[in-house]
Amino acid sequence: MTGNRTFTMIKPDAVEKGYIGAILQKITAAGFKIVAMKYTQLSQRDAETFYAIHKERPFFGELVEFMTRGPIVAAVLEKDNAVEDFRALIGATNPADAAEGTIRKLYASSVAENAVHGSDSDENAGIESNFHFAGREIF
Ligand code: ATP
Ligand code: MG
Repeated sequence: MTGNRTFTMIKPDAVEKGYIGAILQKITAAGFKIVAMKYTQLSQRDAETFYAIHKERPFFGELVEFMTRGPIVAAVLEKDNAVEDFRALIGATNPADAAEGTIRKLYASSVAENAVHGSDSDENAGIESNFHFAGREIF
């Protein structure tokens, strides 16, 4: 069975460029309902914890520096088949490989600064939503 929720962040690059409204428009137009949302900034520790799975990768330091350099939007989204459908909507990690019309094709500039995050499994969607919204009544 597939879940009906996923978790997203609009990353610092997209916030800096003024793309919050355009990206939220794409998300809601694709049929996702926003269940919870906040405008916030990750601390170094937040980013290291959130992306802990990548801590051995050569780009980890760059990733943490990027994700903490400015505000982000964090949100929980609801739709049938949410994780898979949202990954399709955002496109490949590297915007050069992302399909036409995807959020990363439209708004990302590089594999590092790729505009949005999308959970990669139902389990991680739950973990990541709790990381940002633990204790909220919706959960
Ligand atoms: P996300 O988890 O943010 O949705 P993703 O699942 O498409 O992205 P991951 O492999 O999980 O991709 O990588 C996490 C993030 O690390 C990427 O979104 C990107 O910001 C950064 N990243 C990935 N590969 C590289 C790289 N080769 N160089 C620099 N940064 C990278
Ligand atoms: Mg990922």
